[in-house]
Parts: sequence; structure tokens; C-alpha cells
Amino acid sequence: MSASIVLICGNLFDGLGDTLQGPAEILIEHDTIAAIGPSVARPRGARVIDLSHRTVAPGFIDTHVHLFLDGMNLKQQILQSSAGKALAGLSLAREYMRHGFTTLRDLGTFDDDWPGLELRNAINAGRLAGPRLFVAPHMISGSGGHADMQGALPCRCHLGLSKTADSPAEIRKQVRCQAAHGADWIKTMNTGGYMSFGDDPARVTWFEEEMEAAAAAAHQLGIPVSVHTGAAEGCKQALRAGARSLEHCYLIDDEGISMAEASGAFLVPTMQMTLEDKAMLAANTLPSQAVWKFTRDLPEIERSQRRMADSHANIALGTDCGMFPFSRGILEFQAMVAAGLTPARALRAGTSVAAALLQRTDIGALEAGRQADIVAMPGDPLADIAVTAQVDFVMRGGRIYRFGDLDLPG
Ligand SMILES: [Zn+2]
Repeated sequence: MSASIVLICGNLFDGLGDTLQGPAEILIEHDTIAAIGPSVARPRGARVIDLSHRTVAPGFIDTHVHLFLDGMNLKQQILQSSAGKALAGLSLAREYMRHGFTTLRDLGTFDDDWPGLELRNAINAGRLAGPRLFVAPHMISGSGGHADMQGALPCRCHLGLSKTADSPAEIRKQVRCQAAHGADWIKTMNTGGYMSFGDDPARVTWFEEEMEAAAAAAHQLGIPVSVHTGAAEGCKQALRAGARSLEHCYLIDDEGISMAEASGAFLVPTMQMTLEDKAMLAANTLPSQAVWKFTRDLPEIERSQRRMADSHANIALGTDCGMFPFSRGILEFQAMVAAGLTPARALRAGTSVAAALLQRTDIGALEAGRQADIVAMPGDPLADIAVTAQVDFVMRGGRIYRFGDLDLPG
């Protein structure tokens, strides 16, 4: 079988621009885009795939998922073994790739072991088919902070599910442990959260020296830092420490936005999750530990989302799937547009900007020389962002994982 594939594309969103291009053709050799233009060479034996009624785009990138954390059933999930989490995560990752997400950044689980790193390694080695994974194995916070699970299931806490640390020295030790096991990212929490017990997203939980210790240890080891943050002061603390990405930014204020614009840090606003929480609040199904915090903060969360949409900051797509079903993660594009981003900016957030967050120049755009991570959808996503939820062609590294109604073996 030839290793060459030619895609005939009706329209093209290249991941970088503001408009659609096309018609166009893409030549794929092995795992790489070899050529792209109005017409490309047809090597002998090349497979030609007609996507002339589709808009073709780079494979989507979700920079905030939890494949190994079932936030809807935390107590049950804590009883699950590490192997069980890895298997469940593989299944979720493959299913999510069918929606077009060819690259994921996993931001941590509650487990004493390293299921995310094992799955990443197995996919990288070609032993398993799945999306590209970048992994922050565990979440590090102070005791009583957002990564401390003793409120959920105290009798299991001695098993090391929570990675807590309460001094710069302890924090450096946790960061070094993550690095030694092969972490791509360090994930830390410097404020509380909504779904956790006994903490508050409007409160900063790291002292300045503790946030600095986490960032400095990671920096020394060459690993970027992702910070779950809510409070306006928490956003600024993370930015002062040099965090590469800020997750949620629930309550970011104008000063925080200006700091992010100046530093080039990436904001990952997880807007679909706010819609999920809103729907649960309306249906009286939001967990009780979240109700008072979310009710109090919702107006300010929505103002902060508008601030991000109106800013020039780098906005990357991240969903927090795992805290809600992966089947609805693809709705993040629509949530971003509903919050005020243009469709083109939302698409860049889930392609080229997300790739920049990951420090990867070989994915996130349709250009010769980049990896052939390619999706296709009907219609025009710049006119109707909802068509992003209708992806029916998925290629990852030159290999087709979804095509029309036919799901090809992974
Ligand atoms: Zn998360």
C-alpha cells in the first residue's frame, strides 16, 4: 500500500488565519503534510480522498482534560486501581479523538501511581492507537487546597491519592518527583475550586513563596507550569511566578488581563464547564459543596469571560472534560463564541494557539512539514461554529481514524 494520501478539500481553515481558503489539495506522505495548494502531485498509488463537500482544518487540541479522573463520581473513582484508570482513559481518549481532538493535555488525576504517563508512553511507542498526550500526572496544592481529597473520602487518603505540600521544600520535592517520572507539565492549584470540599476558588491557597517554589523548581527542570486558578489575586500570583498557562481564570480582573497580555502567558478559560455548572444549578443537580460558591461567583465568572474575550491575551481551548462528559467537550468552540470570541479566534484557540501553549511547532496548523493531524466537517465553521461538532473525518499522524460513517480500526 502506498504511504501517500491526497485530500481534495472544499474549504480549508489552516489554523493560523482569519478566513477560509480553498478549494485546496493536501498531499500526505507517511505522517507528514508534504504539500498543500490549489493542486498537488499525485504519487503513483496515492489514495485520493474526496472531502470536496467539507471544510478541512488542523486536528483539534484540548489543553485541559482529565482522562483519569471521573469528577462526576469522585468517591467511586478513588476506589479504582491505577490500571483501571489507564484503561478507562484510553477508551475516553479514543472516543474523544472521533470528535476531532488529535492532541490532549491531561492535567492530573488522584492516584498514587502514574496511569497518564503509561498511556502516553504506550501511544508514543505505537503500542496503542490514540491521540497525542501531554501529561501533568498529578495536581499539587497545599493541604486543604484544591488537590486535597480528604474531604471526599477521608479513609482512603493515606493511600497517597492527594499530592499536598505545605512549604517551599515540600513543594520542590513534589515537583522533582513529577519530573523524575517523566511529567510533561507541572500542574498546581493556587486557589480553591467549585467541586472540591473545604476550599474556595475566591481564596488564594499558596503563599507567594510557595507559588514561586513550584515555578522555580519546574523552571530549573525545564518543565512548564499550569496553574488552576480562580481568585483575581491567584491569577496575578500565577503570572508573577511565570506560569505558562492559567486554567479557568474564573475571577480574573482587568489588571490580570493586562499582565497576561504583557507576558504572553496562555489563558484556558474552560467556558463549556461553566455552562455545564449553570445547567446543573438550574436543575438542582449541582453538588452541594459547589452550590454556594458557584451561585456567589457566577456573575463575576461571566464578566471575567467577557474580559478574556475582549482582550489580546493568548486564549487556548481547554474543556476540563472528566469533570463533565467527554461527549460534550466539542461544545467548547460554541461556548467560546457565545462568550464573545470570534469563530476564527476560537478555532485558533483549539489549533495553532493550543500548539503554541504546548511548545509544539509541528502540530496545530495545515502547512507543509507539519504532522498530518487533520479533521473535516460539513459547512463553514466561521459562519456557524456549531459545525465543529459535526466532524466526520479524523486523521492523526497520516493515519485515518474516522471517515464518514465508517469508523476504521484504531
Ligand atoms: Zn481541571
